[in-house]
This record gives sequence, structure tokens and C-alpha cells, in this order.
Amino acid sequence: MNTTAAALWQSVLGEIELTVSHGNFTTWFKNTELIEHHDSHLTVAVPNVFAIRQFEVKFDDTVKEILAHNGITNPHVTYVVKGAKKHIVTRETTGESEQDNRSQRADDLLGNGRATPTRSTASTSLNPRYTFDSFIVGGSNDLAFAAAQAVAANPGQKYNPLFLYGGVGLGKTHLAQAVGHEVLRRDASARVLYISSETFVNEFLDYIRFKKKGFSDKYRNVDVLIVDDMQFIAGKEKTQEEFFHTFNALHQANKQIIITSDKPPRSIPTLTERLRSRLEWGMAIDIQMPDFETRCAIVQTKANMSGVSLDQDTVEYLAKNIKTNVRELEGALNQLLAYAEMRGVPADVTTAEGLLGNIKHARPQHVTAKQIIDKTAKHFSIEPKEICGAKRDKHIVVPRQIAMYLLRSELHMSFPKISQELGRKDHTTAIHSIEKIEKAIKLDFMIREQVAEIREKLYA
Ligand code: ADP
Ligand code: MG
Repeated sequence: MNTTAAALWQSVLGEIELTVSHGNFTTWFKNTELIEHHDSHLTVAVPNVFAIRQFEVKFDDTVKEILAHNGITNPHVTYVVKGAKKHIVTRETTGESEQDNRSQRADDLLGNGRATPTRSTASTSLNPRYTFDSFIVGGSNDLAFAAAQAVAANPGQKYNPLFLYGGVGLGKTHLAQAVGHEVLRRDASARVLYISSETFVNEFLDYIRFKKKGFSDKYRNVDVLIVDDMQFIAGKEKTQEEFFHTFNALHQANKQIIITSDKPPRSIPTLTERLRSRLEWGMAIDIQMPDFETRCAIVQTKANMSGVSLDQDTVEYLAKNIKTNVRELEGALNQLLAYAEMRGVPADVTTAEGLLGNIKHARPQHVTAKQIIDKTAKHFSIEPKEICGAKRDKHIVVPRQIAMYLLRSELHMSFPKISQELGRKDHTTAIHSIEKIEKAIKLDFMIREQVAEIREKLYA
């Protein structure tokens, strides 16, 4: 298989592995291969005729979704039995010469034993608090957590680069650094380098301006490079160019690259196309705001780490009222603990209310089912009665599924009640619709954004 096709399919499989059950993955996906690739037309070889049917009926949507996620617009996939087609045709976006350059550059840079940074300088920048142990896992970050653990267990082997994206304060830095800690725990001689992309930009500018030495060596002689907040490199073409070469050199030598950003690669507007395509080679996963239960677990765990045990009401009060991000949740908890200690009062709901009352009143506590349906319809420029109607057109079905999802996530409604609100008899549709959106939110940036926007409007 051609390297580009191999990399694409490997990246697709990597995501599928996290999407379907372990059993399904081993049975159906493991021995598949991308054998033909013309723009959006792909041919995938599967082991036998029976598998073809499974793929066509059961997995086609997932495969297409993930292909779209990997930059193939409107993919069309044909499944064939392995061995039936032999020739390999692949769309070449980057060209052969670049592949050659890449290996040559990597050989130049990594193959001839240059001075390596000492381990202490390479690893001191990790925050000791940011470990896997102290990271609370829930539905909003479980994929990211699993991928980060897989990377830590086999750096450079599995998802390379690992690209973590999401809003501020949701744990990207924490998770990226946890990989660094874990790599070092397993192999104390590993060279882990964590930098913010701002540091990368500044050091690069110094290197250009003052002809400072050692820039390339510093970044290229590592086993794991973590670049935090990639979005700051965007728009700075020279720096991107340099980063592109660093990336290639490391990737070629099977060194692990971990990148965080506020957006997925394809949504960072000023990223050069070839850097973007590099970033999409591996695995891009988003981290979202943890749900209520996870927020409770975070509050309780962090309080325990400070040697305080909060009662359940207080934990729930904080988790319920702070829905912006984990950093703010942590901030509110610390504020409460500090205030209670200074004033000698209990860290309970009353104290918390006094401190955070303004946050509590900033948002109405109750939205209604009607508001959810109306706002969702309005967001998609359709009528509320269409959401509650029976039409199966795609431009209505997706908003309808999102409305069901929001009724569940915002109002914790039961499935039968949700069906009733939408004028439906059979509540299995609600179950399927909600599952579908839950999954889409993890895989599809567009859906996630739409849901977030409607939610914002609900509480505006
Ligand atoms: P980001 O880099 O996405 O802006 P950080 O990684 O800096 O966010 O996280 C902000 C704070 O929230 C940190 O103190 C981090 O430890 C904490 N945090 C975020 N997510 C979690 C989580 N799932 N479990 C425990 N702590 C978390
Ligand atoms: Mg960060």
C-alpha cells in the first residue's frame, strides 16, 4: 500500500478503534486495507464476502464519518474482498519529491548522533500535578484519555501526532503533560520536551534574529515533543515552515508528537495546507466540558487532594452552577476552601451560595421543553412544528435529533417523555437519536459546534 493511503487508513482505523467495541474492531476492521483512493472514491479490501455485507449495512456510516473527519469530503466507499483487486492508485497531494526530502532531512537531522539535550532540561517543564492519576475521566474526555494512554504506552507507534483540541480550561495541557510523565515513568532516560507554541515562536525568532545556535537540535533530539496551544503558530508562516520540518524529522524517526489547540487542524484558518495535512496524519480528538457527574467527581477529588471532604450538596452545588470549564470549577472550589478557612466557617452550600451567588443568578436555572424546540428550530431556520412533525428530510431530521438530545442533556427528561414532547409514540427513536448525537458530538466538530451554539442561546 502506498504510504499516503496507508497513513490515511491507519488514522481512520485508529479512530474506529475508539468508536466501535473491541470485539467489533478485531473481528471486522483489523484485517482491512485501503487499496484504491481517487479523491472521494475509496476502495477498501475486507477479508471475506460476509464482511462486505457487515460493512455496507452496519459500518458504512461510521467509516464515512471518520473519513470526512480525516479530510475526505463526501466519501464514497466500495468494499471488496481482499485479493480481488491488486493495483493501487492513490491521490497524491504532497508529491513524491516531498516524501524523499522528508526522509533525507530526517536522516540528516536525526541519524548522525548530534548532541542531545540533557534529560533534566528536557523534562523539568512538566507540571507534577498533571498526571493520568489526577485526571478524572467522563464521557466528555474518555476518547482523549484513552488515546493519550495508548500514546504513552507506545510513543511514536500509534497515534502520531496526537492532536488534542477543545475550549480553554478543559484539560488539554493536563492530558498532554500526563503523557510526558507516563513516558518518563516507564523509561527514565526518555527525552520529553514540553513547550508552548509561543515559546517555539519566540525561540525561533531569536534564532533568526540573533543567529542563536542549537534551535533545531533542541527540538529534534527528543523522543516526545509536546507543543501546547498550537493556534499561536497559525499565521506565522516562517515559524510554521520550521515547525513543519521539525515535525517531519521527528515523525520520520518515529518520535512522538503531541499537539494541543483550541480548534481541530482543519479549522485553524491560517495554517499552511501542508502543515495541516501533516497534523491530520494522526489522531485528532476533542475534549469537551465534563457532564454533571464528572464535574461532581472532579470537585470531590480536588477537595480531597486539599485534605477537605465536602458534603454531597456542596459538591453538587458547585458542579451544577459552574458549567464553563474545569479551570473555573477548580477556581470556585479553591475560593470556597480559602474563604472557609480564613473566616473559620464550614465549606458548605450556604458559604458557597454567598460566594458564588452571582454566578448562580447569571443563568436561569430552568429552560423549558418548548424553548429547546423553538430555539433549535430557529437555529436551523425551520419551523418548530417541523421538528415535531413526521417529515424525514435530512435538514429536519438532524435538528430533530439535536432537540431530543438537548431535552435529555438539559432537562434530564425520560425517553418516553421526550418522544411525547415531539409528538411521537415510539420512544426507541428518541433513544437512537440521542445516541446518534452523543456519538456525533465526539466525532463531528460541526455537530458539536451547532449543539454548543444552541445551548448558548438557551441560556443567553
Ligand atoms: P486547557 O489546557 O485545556 O486550557 P488545563 O489542562 O490547563 O486546560 O486544565 C485546567 C485545569 O483543570 C487544570 O488545573 C487541570 O488539572 C484541571 N482539569 C481539567 N480537566 C480535568 C479532569 N478531567 N480531571 C481533573 N482535572 C482536570
Ligand atoms: Mg492549556
